[in-house]
Amino acid sequence: MAGLPRLVCGSANPDKVAEIALVLDGLVELRPRPSNLGEVVEDASDLEGNARLKAAAVCKAAGAAAVSDDTGLEVDALDGAPGVFSARYAGADASYQDNVDKLLAELDRVGAATPTQRRARFRTAVMVVWPDGRELCVEGVVEGHIARGPTGAGGFGYDPVFVPDEADGRTFAQMGHDKHEISHRGRAFRALASSLADQR
Ligand code: IMP
Repeated sequence: MAGLPRLVCGSANPDKVAEIALVLDGLVELRPRPSNLGEVVEDASDLEGNARLKAAAVCKAAGAAAVSDDTGLEVDALDGAPGVFSARYAGADASYQDNVDKLLAELDRVGAATPTQRRARFRTAVMVVWPDGRELCVEGVVEGHIARGPTGAGGFGYDPVFVPDEADGRTFAQMGHDKHEISHRGRAFRALASSLADQR
């Protein structure tokens, strides 16, 4: 029987690597990112493009198939912002807190007060690039709304203000591992696992 597909992980963020390893456990053999590879400039115009840039750079450096992901928070009342700029919404060196503060201020500025007016979704694009140039791209989405203020101490990024439709009114920051059952990244990596299984 063939072994598990091997993929080099394009992320250097230990929280994300742990989350990805959990979702792909038993489905993919995840290898660490080459330590000598610097940061990849993410200047594509969409999530898929950024995921491709990162996966292609890691694939080239490692000489093996690599997987990378890129996530954005899309807020309808802000015409889809912060989207591809989610990590640097409040500026190049913005902290998670700075980004959340800006998001809440922008929603106040446009007068979005109700959950319906504050509709949002997280979208994750996952890209695998093989050394022969083949690519596979899958996506995961979770729908929800932006709360009026932060709640909860878990998670990271916009978790304290994102209330998924499929939970019970808690923010992602108030959820434990059950976040990954419905999260954008959990869904995207499960879609990846099933696409890879179909290819075997
Ligand atoms: P990345 O592409 O996964 O690095 O995500 C870009 C930015 O989106 C991060 O800097 C976070 O601000 C935000 N983000 C990504 N995933 C999550 C999540 O699961 N919860 C909250 N914020 C997230």
